[in-house]
Amino acid sequence: MARRREISGETIQFELPSGIPVEIQEMSGNAERHIRNKQFLKSGKWLELLMMDTVVSLGGNALPESELEAEKLLLDLRTGDRNYLLLQIRMQSFGEEMTFNYKCPECKKTAGYSINLKELLDSGDLRVSPYREDVPIQLEVRGGIAVIDYSDGHRERLIAAQKEIDTVVLTMMACKTFNGEKPAYETFAKLLSRDLAKIRETFLDLQGGLEPEIELDCLECGDSHNVLLAGIPDFFFPATTKRVNIGR
Ligand SMILES: [Zn+2]
Repeated sequence: MARRREISGETIQFELPSGIPVEIQEMSGNAERHIRNKQFLKSGKWLELLMMDTVVSLGGNALPESELEAEKLLLDLRTGDRNYLLLQIRMQSFGEEMTFNYKCPECKKTAGYSINLKELLDSGDLRVSPYREDVPIQLEVRGGIAVIDYSDGHRERLIAAQKEIDTVVLTMMACKTFNGEKPAYETFAKLLSRDLAKIRETFLDLQGGLEPEIELDCLECGDSHNVLLAGIPDFFFPATTKRVNIGR
């Protein structure tokens, strides 16, 4: 990939939910290319390429020139921080308003919606939770203490890459330590499923950073659904769809 982008136009600064300061600029055509690239979409790498296009500085330092180093720093970020960053990139690049079509999985009818991302963020409808440090749980069946960790970009990549999800690997990655040690596959494969389930359950309950979901009430049948923001084409490509009827 070409050298890091020069700063063009205005930048904004803010803090990620974990407190890391970031400075970003608007998205460029270069990033659009990556977002549409099938291979990058499949591996999940489009996210880091988009972040490399837009992040000017992270943690008070300029993003490294080396793509590998920059990519590692961005993957090290927690998923809730990454979600928050993506939302800010979207608003900085295309504004707060988002207009899109949504097909209700219940009644199968498509309706047009218009939302304001900033208002949803301010009202808490787009939820940002504070991070907690080290969450230990006691495994009841076999004993032992697992310290649960938050998801990060590396974990997201692994999930995107796996054809069949190895639940032992996933459970292992949900832990920072097990009995004070770095989690090891052999140890986790021997744990009982009830203990593994407990770890996964705690991990899923552990909210930190931005949850990138909005609740949408179907305009046709009124059924309520949680919709992933980045799953809506208009999130990164505004005006991809034209509203089919008057939305909210
Ligand atoms: Zn419906």
